[in-house]
Amino acid sequence: MSGEGSSAKNAHAGLLSYAEAAAVVTGFARGLRPGAVESVALASAQDRVLAKAIVADVDQPAFPRSTRDGYACRAVEAATHDFLPVAGATHAGEAPPPPLPPKSMWEIMTGAPVGAGADAVVMVEHVERNGVQARLLPPRVAKAGENIVARGEQARAGDELVSAGTLLGPAQIALAAACGYANVDAYPRPRVAILTTGDELVPVDAVPGPGQIRNSNGPMLETLVRAAGGDVCMCLTATDTAESLDFALTVAGEADLLLISGGVSAGKFDLVEPALARIGAKFHFTGVRMQPGKPLVFGALRASTLGADLAEEKVLPFFGLPGNPISSAATFLLFAAPVIAALSGSDDLGPRFIAAELKQGTDRRGNAGLTRFLPSWCEFDVAVGKLPQVATVPWHGSGDLPAFARSNCFLVVPEGVASLEAGAQVSILMM
Ligand code: AMP
Ligand code: MG
Repeated sequence: MSGEGSSAKNAHAGLLSYAEAAAVVTGFARGLRPGAVESVALASAQDRVLAKAIVADVDQPAFPRSTRDGYACRAVEAATHDFLPVAGATHAGEAPPPPLPPKSMWEIMTGAPVGAGADAVVMVEHVERNGVQARLLPPRVAKAGENIVARGEQARAGDELVSAGTLLGPAQIALAAACGYANVDAYPRPRVAILTTGDELVPVDAVPGPGQIRNSNGPMLETLVRAAGGDVCMCLTATDTAESLDFALTVAGEADLLLISGGVSAGKFDLVEPALARIGAKFHFTGVRMQPGKPLVFGALRASTLGADLAEEKVLPFFGLPGNPISSAATFLLFAAPVIAALSGSDDLGPRFIAAELKQGTDRRGNAGLTRFLPSWCEFDVAVGKLPQVATVPWHGSGDLPAFARSNCFLVVPEGVASLEAGAQVSILMM
């Protein structure tokens, strides 16, 4: 790591650091409430946030269960290696067998109930079967408890197994199914409005005229919103005029979050902030000591001023994301995704940084006055005990979409650090 003098810092005086801005957003997000609880079929519950805890209906397992195909026995008897009569057999789905007679074994399959008196299951691979008799092969010994999950060992009836506020993934859905939940109570996915702005933008299916570009932030932000747990409820576009922006903002009130792309830099046609101010926006911050994404704006509107017909006064948080695609993506992941998580009812707002090892040193000309988020490629195919390996992707600024498409994460270069050396342990944010 190499540092840099304080001159660069002074150029950004008055702006919050990345950490300060992140704390403002998280603090605000924790005060947000998700929508009304709804009952969701288990098959559609993935990526929803649980609103009511999942409770065990019975002990888990509900009976002592064999974890192997083999023979239920008494460990001390099996350890003699004598042939013992096989008193019966049970496979998964059958009722629990009667108590194990003394000095005998009981053939058993994985998932089957173990009879009273048996304290171990020896694996079929370790047993010699001779007609109606079987014995544990030396030098193997059996230990009490081996290959049996005792009744209630995993959970007791009435235990709260998944708490409200948990994001539902495959493991939680499997557990809910095991507990008999065909539906779960979950929060709705927040509705996010996306407003892309810029005179230069044309739709994706149009051929750009001279000086025009296709609106790539629209589809990118839609993708990011869905991945973060939100639903896109409207996609609006506006030109760089006060009238166009004012009109677009009047329809956004129905959303739970408003994302605006473009028009927040210091340029002559960056009219988003004034438009927001005209409808009474409260700005929590305008600008962050970060790169890309420095012009980021965060604030909230009263939804009623946007024409939403609401009995209760609702607050509509908004982000003004810088228009450059990589800036938009980085600021979305760092700031907007946690707000979507909070609006979804989640306890875990993120963003989740992970540790990696830098493969090649970063450019030494970096601006140490800003926290930087560099598009990078991370490889996870690493030996046990080694960190994922990350390298920055060569890029030509935050509008370089071809470079962005060759990346899968952002490398974090902390404020005060001009460059990072190869081999350094670093933080990355996955996309
Ligand atoms: P702005 O933040 O409006 O100053 O825009 C910064 C840069 O991002 C300009 O080069 C814009 O053309 C570009 N840009 C703005 N909006 C979009 C968009 N929706 N899709 C792709 N590029 C955009
Ligand atoms: Mg613009």
